[in-house]
Amino acid sequence: MEGRRPTADSRSQFWLMCMRCCVLAGCVDVALFFIFHYLGSPILAWINVFSGPMYAIAWWALKTRRNVLALTLIWIEVLIHATLGSLLIGWEAGFYYYLLMFIPALFAGNRSYRRAALTVVALWLFYIGLAVATHLVEPVQPISENARLALYLFNLTVLFGMSSYLSMYYMMTVRRAHRSLSRMATTDPLTLLYNRGYMVELAGRHIAEREHAGRRLAFLLMDVDHFKQVNDLHGHDCGDRVLSQVGALLREALREGDSVGRWGGEEILALLPGADTRQATQVAERVRQAVAGYDWSLYGLHAPVTLSIGVSEHQAGEMLSDSLNRADAALYAGKHGGRNRVEVALETEQQSAAGSQAG
Ligand code: GH3
Ligand code: MG
Ligand code: MG
Repeated sequence: MEGRRPTADSRSQFWLMCMRCCVLAGCVDVALFFIFHYLGSPILAWINVFSGPMYAIAWWALKTRRNVLALTLIWIEVLIHATLGSLLIGWEAGFYYYLLMFIPALFAGNRSYRRAALTVVALWLFYIGLAVATHLVEPVQPISENARLALYLFNLTVLFGMSSYLSMYYMMTVRRAHRSLSRMATTDPLTLLYNRGYMVELAGRHIAEREHAGRRLAFLLMDVDHFKQVNDLHGHDCGDRVLSQVGALLREALREGDSVGRWGGEEILALLPGADTRQATQVAERVRQAVAGYDWSLYGLHAPVTLSIGVSEHQAGEMLSDSLNRADAALYAGKHGGRNRVEVALETEQQSAAGSQAG
């Protein structure tokens, strides 16, 4: 199923994380080289001399997008290192810990969960085999009890550090995906304003708040004037860019706490919680001026883009559609009154919209 696959962004983040793990693992190998040298085990020290360059090559392979080569090198290194470390010093040295870190990485980096699960089973069989082998065979290069404990603590510490880093990465990926999904679900991609569905949800919340706490609520219903002409004269792409700029100007002109969304086509709705008709009319006028006063020649237009705006205030017991119908009637009056105007709806639908402001 397409939706379950990791996104391109999350996958490139995954490879970036693998590059950081290569650096970390390379540093661990350098540390192990000195530790084994100090413990008087040159064979083990020299194993790490081979491991370091392998991580360096894997890092380079990841950087140049040779991901399969990089993963193959990392797998080979970890399997050989865990096997030799366990067989030479004994299971208690804790080299098997490094194998465990593959489990979450396999699920995070694999497109197929089935393949990841099968690889985990293979890893588990290898792990069991190594555990049995090290319990049957005496360590080839035994080190002192204290040295083994020190090595075990070192490997344990690396496991804690790396697991914490990986867990943090996985959680960050999930949160980022969640944020981007909720943004996509609530935002209109062209104007970056909220979409209609989310505006309905927000309006419902504000109306409930109005009913319970008596907080006032005003609506601005806006429509770009003669927008068809912009498309006809300058092309649809230019129309899109103009709409997007109108969205940016509205986001700038409205107050924090107000919400603005694309209601459909070139029609935009703003919710002004806490505002009465008078305050909403002032905001609408500010918005109208911000759009009309923008330098639209930057978009190749010969005349400014303007908005007609209908203002309505929510009346007690009214449905959202009632408030919007009144705002729409006021907007209609604005269009008929010459456009580039703010018109205020009267309190009930029976009363006709009254004009207020000429642009
Ligand atoms: P009025 O002043 O009466 O509102 O005139 P108008 O030309 O703006 O009104 P009309 O409803 O006739 O035309 C609206 C135009 O908006 C038609 C439609 O193609 C265009 N439009 C709607 N959505 C988009 C969009 O996303 N991008 C572009 N470029 N144009 C759009
Ligand atoms: Mg229009
Ligand atoms: Mg329209």
